[in-house]
Amino acid sequence: MKKVKRRKFNKNFKCKACGKCCKVEGYIHVSNTDIKNISRHLKMTEKQFRDKYVRWVHNIGRVLPSGVNSSCIFLKNGKCGIYQARPVQCSSFPYWDMITGDNDEWEYAKSYCKGCREMGEIIIS
Ligand code: SF4
Ligand code: SF4
Repeated sequence: MKKVKRRKFNKNFKCKACGKCCKVEGYIHVSNTDIKNISRHLKMTEKQFRDKYVRWVHNIGRVLPSGVNSSCIFLKNGKCGIYQARPVQCSSFPYWDMITGDNDEWEYAKSYCKGCREMGEIIIS
């Protein structure tokens, strides 16, 4: 695995709202702020939201449960059903160190995300 120190892009990321990243296997972490925002968005109390949607995974933390075929439970008809209140993990994609700082992860992100492919890149290692 080849690490890069820094990666600069020619363009800012522009999401195409294709929903493909919401089907990638992995955990969607939710912070206390995420829980507050999503429960308010869904007009639920935080307790109702936690009881219905938040799972605890050992060594991982609080996450959303998976829906059909491992996709996110909030993915509806190919779109995020809580888009305005989606977790920071989702809204900050793909600007995660583990993606932009790792060549293999970046190539994987580009394999399913058109927005990533369109960013262009200059690698400084
Ligand atoms: S895969 Fe990329 S373009 Fe598609 S919804 Fe996810 S972030 Fe947006
Ligand atoms: S919360 Fe929304 S943006 Fe995040 S993975 Fe689920 S459907 Fe996709």
